[in-house]
Amino acid sequence: MLDQKFSIFEFYESKVRSYCRDFPVKIHRAKGSVIHSVENYSYIDFFSGAGALNYGHNCEPLKKKLMAYLDDDGVTHSLDFYTEAKEDFIKTFQEKILIPRNMRYKVQFTGPTGTNAVEAALKLARKVTKRTNVIAFSNAFHGMSLGSLAATSNPKKRQGAGVSLGGVTFMPYERYLGEHYDSLDFIDQMLKPGGGIEAPAAFLIETIQGEGGLRCVSANWLQRLQALAREHGALLIIDDIQSGCGRSGRFFSFEEMDVAPDIICLSKSLSGYGLPFSMNLINPDFDIWEPGEHNGTFRGNNLAFVTAKAAVEEFWSEPVFEQALHQKIGYLHVRLEALAERTRLLVPEAHFLGRGFMCGISVGSEDIASKISQAAFSAGLIVETCGVHGQVVKLLPALTIELDILAQGLDILETAFDQVLGFYSYCEEKTA
Ligand SMILES: *Cc1c(COP(=O)(O)O)cnc(C)c1O
Repeated sequence: MLDQKFSIFEFYESKVRSYCRDFPVKIHRAKGSVIHSVENYSYIDFFSGAGALNYGHNCEPLKKKLMAYLDDDGVTHSLDFYTEAKEDFIKTFQEKILIPRNMRYKVQFTGPTGTNAVEAALKLARKVTKRTNVIAFSNAFHGMSLGSLAATSNPKKRQGAGVSLGGVTFMPYERYLGEHYDSLDFIDQMLKPGGGIEAPAAFLIETIQGEGGLRCVSANWLQRLQALAREHGALLIIDDIQSGCGRSGRFFSFEEMDVAPDIICLSKSLSGYGLPFSMNLINPDFDIWEPGEHNGTFRGNNLAFVTAKAAVEEFWSEPVFEQALHQKIGYLHVRLEALAERTRLLVPEAHFLGRGFMCGISVGSEDIASKISQAAFSAGLIVETCGVHGQVVKLLPALTIELDILAQGLDILETAFDQVLGFYSYCEEKTA
């Protein structure tokens, strides 16, 4: 599709570009949950930078802190030198997030991408256990660099590696083998002598699968996984890159599940402002890194320290934000469940998926899901699809979205479903 408007990108930017193909719009500015194009169209944003903008675009209180810091010539780049911004962030994160939850962790600032946090977590688990094998799960997504790609199941993504991807054994996620098949029992059996699986350094898991299709683990299953990890001397790593920072309705996705992961990966919305920033929380007993053993030029980002601290203070130091969020989640789920039910009249396998503000509807096929996403886009809503087969319409609204904008976005989504599914039933009638 050659379009004059996008010719600079089409001529000069690599073919690897992806989201811009599904949503061909040139963005001019954005505020909260609304994006404005150069042509002055506006779009409600149910995508939120794949979950990197949990507090919306240009969140005002965070922006104020950032502007003041820049205005004061606060240091932007400092490798991993001690800075005031870093100290303030660490202190606030410990005081407002970790200590109230009774969580004892050290922080490690990795390179700024999520995949680099996962790389660091895998390296550390292998170093701690002196083992190679890592157990990852069906439909997992952990990033695109070689180590984390090896733990990503999607064949199209793996294909890009160009080398063999090793050191990972895939096991079935909860309910992957069917509603009534206990996949944890299966894993337990496979890890016994005779199963043929090398003793694992770690189990790496997403509690809500982001790219892989919005399946979730139950508290009980996750507790049993943790027990299994302990039994085998393996670490439990929770990749909370997409499901963390409030996405699930709580700061961490596994809160109230009564587990204590050994390493927790955070990235996407950690800065709160869409700035690149990643961090691993490490059980202090396992912090056996040698100085510089996982180095990187952009570890810790002072601008992100400033906005991340501001986000914790603004949203997570009082319960009001979480309470308001839970009300919005309730509203969103009621509407999506109703839409899923209506969809089932035409697509019997359609169902609601996900948790918190990370949820959607499986509509059975990539064809239907992408048509819905495109119809919504034409009507001013940005909503993506996910799943290995692209069969899920996935919603990631900003946690700060105003209720009327959320309602408006859902109206557009419903109309898009009706358009696409109505079209399908019409075609079936014609061919019948
Ligand atoms: C996005 C994501 C990653 C990778 O983060 P990047 O910043 O894209 O490298 C890893 N794990 C999960 C669960 C993610 O959603």
